[in-house]
Amino acid sequence: MLPKWQKGIVTRIEQANHNTRRYWLELPESPLFAFKPGQFVTLDLPIHEQRNKRWRSYSIASAPNGGNLIELVIVLVDDGLGSGYFFNNVAVGSELILRGPHGIFTLPAEIDKDIFMICTGTGIAPYRSILHYINEYKVPHKALHLIYGCRTREDLIYEDEMRALQQDIPELIYHITLSREDWEGAYKGYVHQVYEALCENRQPAHFMLCGWRNMVDEAKHRILEMGYDKNDIHLELYG
Ligand SMILES: Cc1cc2nc3c(=O)[nH]c(=O)nc-3n(C[C@H](O)[C@H](O)[C@H](O)COP(=O)(O)OP(=O)(O)OC[C@H]3O[C@@H](n4cnc5c(N)ncnc54)[C@H](O)[C@@H]3O)c2cc1C
Repeated sequence: MLPKWQKGIVTRIEQANHNTRRYWLELPESPLFAFKPGQFVTLDLPIHEQRNKRWRSYSIASAPNGGNLIELVIVLVDDGLGSGYFFNNVAVGSELILRGPHGIFTLPAEIDKDIFMICTGTGIAPYRSILHYINEYKVPHKALHLIYGCRTREDLIYEDEMRALQQDIPELIYHITLSREDWEGAYKGYVHQVYEALCENRQPAHFMLCGWRNMVDEAKHRILEMGYDKNDIHLELYG
């Protein structure tokens, strides 16, 4: 059965970078909003007459906290109706309609292999939830590689926070790659070269891919070409 539609009140908004914002939503009808890290919610935004054309999904970027406050992180898409609505019409105190949690882009029952969390842009959102959850609930794990691709340094979100999280989770390795800026970091270019180099020895691995179709499709193709099984690959397609 699908979860019911409910109210979400925007309690806080912060700019995450030049074109991305963080939105905190309180769900007053669910004193305990239970979800698994990696899941998403669907919003019914007043952007179209037809109901199903009003729906936009957003990963929950915060970890379950035993309460009813969730964080979403949304990039403004050129001519995007939903993201445009958030940026132009949503303010602290706005009331939104949403449904969730949905999705199966979550941790395996037992983390018995290294995990490669591959993403671009706001695709980092579900991993932020997952990593905070692993940290807070001391979930047993192997190596956790967060591979984050952006065009330039100013596009990165949660950078300081992920660096700080490495202090709390020694097995977390945070790899940034920039495709359109020369910088002092280890990687330049797309995310693909990063996991290909890290998995040169074809060690047992669990791959999670999150973001827009071009990146996700190409990564899936390359990981299969490397000899991994399709069951090792888990996807969250943003569009
Ligand atoms: C499960 C799931 C989770 C998601 N989580 C997030 C999230 O955490 N944060 C987030 O920002 N988005 C997320 N998305 C994407 C989000 O649902 C919307 O698709 C996105 O906000 C664009 O919607 P829009 O209404 O602004 O654009 P639309 O009006 O739907 O699209 C406008 C045009 O832009 C194109 N387009 C849309 N997005 C992009 C893009 N990024 N780059 C290039 N072209 C694009 C469309 O194909 C279309 O031609 C998620 C999607 C899914 C399915």
